[in-house]
Amino acid sequence: MLKLKQAALAAAATIILAAPAQADPLTDAIQADLPSLMEIYRDLHANPELSGEEVRTAAKLAVEARRLGFEVTEKVGGTGVVAVMKNGAGPTVMIRADMDGLPLVEKTGLPFASKVMAKTREGNDTGVMHACGHDTHMTGWVGTARQLVARKADWSGTLVMILQPAEETGEGAKAMLEDGLYTRFPKPEYVLAFHDAAGAPAGYIGYAPGYALANVDSVDIEVKGVGGHGAYPHTTKDPIVVASRIVGALQTLVSREIDPQDPAVVTVGSFQAGFKHNIIPDKANLLLTVRSYSDETRAKLLDGIKRIAQGEAVTAGLPEDRMPVVRVRDDEFTPSTYNSPEFTKKMAALFEQRFGKDRVVQSKPVMGGEDFSRFRRADESIKSMIFWVGGVPIDQYLAAKKEGTKLPSLHSPLWAPDAEKVVATGAEALTAAALHLMKKGG
Ligand SMILES: [Zn+2]
Ligand SMILES: [Zn+2]
Repeated sequence: MLKLKQAALAAAATIILAAPAQADPLTDAIQADLPSLMEIYRDLHANPELSGEEVRTAAKLAVEARRLGFEVTEKVGGTGVVAVMKNGAGPTVMIRADMDGLPLVEKTGLPFASKVMAKTREGNDTGVMHACGHDTHMTGWVGTARQLVARKADWSGTLVMILQPAEETGEGAKAMLEDGLYTRFPKPEYVLAFHDAAGAPAGYIGYAPGYALANVDSVDIEVKGVGGHGAYPHTTKDPIVVASRIVGALQTLVSREIDPQDPAVVTVGSFQAGFKHNIIPDKANLLLTVRSYSDETRAKLLDGIKRIAQGEAVTAGLPEDRMPVVRVRDDEFTPSTYNSPEFTKKMAALFEQRFGKDRVVQSKPVMGGEDFSRFRRADESIKSMIFWVGGVPIDQYLAAKKEGTKLPSLHSPLWAPDAEKVVATGAEALTAAALHLMKKGG
């Protein structure tokens, strides 16, 4: 997910390999807790659950949070968990981890690899795997909770730790908010999370002030035609030709209508029509993914898609009642993620102090999506930041760089992060951030 500066990285990776153990009480405490955290990690990894079905996962971690003294509420927005700890006057800080795995058969060969099978919503049998690393997020979340509880004397404020279901389907954050996350529980001034990254060496932190992840829209276009015999095309209106023209014209939307300085993507990921050589079908279906950052650019793209589809149908001479149907799938929309710029830079400076400048790198925004965005969208006065924690084992990272080979990405059945480094770094960064924000007398 991350693209970091190559030269700086190679040098820095060497430093990490050679770095002696830091003499810092928080670093040391997390290192001491790692064997216990890794037990949780391996259990979560071996028992992944699909989006919206995180029942075992939620129950297990709710027990852990209760044991630590949090006031825990389960089943918020489906399987969501909200753990609250009030510890005197001060700001409210929310820390989020997501819980869902993906419908994939794991191929990492790890001794604790998932063998779980489940049924998709469509009723297909599938393997299930934590291929996005949400198991590292949850384990880091536990590590953070433990450290903040152990340091209760050092901070003052309200800590809200949440476990969110269904990130991969873009439903979970919305469901928790709609179930009263900001009304039934203390509403945060600050919201934080981390995500593991498959393009950066383990233990590195990446951050992007401002837009960090994109608006993600799914659009269906049903192109109607008038079917008939393939030998007599003049008696038909061929939807394959119309749909092909739409696909071609869509390429000009980003290249001719959007400011070149403003990133946008329109990808046609599926084009389906017809079933036989000599039959002109009466419809063609296109499935698109549309990416942008600002609401204005998003609107321009979605309006442009409708205009182009309609325009090509008119050009082809289709009658009024055979115009294409363009459906923007609002149920699948994920809004863009905006990291409050000043807040993000402040947190990055804190991380640099703690981890060293070499390990904390400003990264480019990406066109992927994260429904973490919704926690700030629900109230834009909230200061929000999601940061990346590199997960590629250092030796693999260096070898791949040297040999120019490709590494598995997130959502790959081969993605096996250096979980110890991800969890330790994520937990240390989140703990340090929360301690800073809720510093006593601060
Ligand atoms: Zn994912
Ligand atoms: Zn993810």
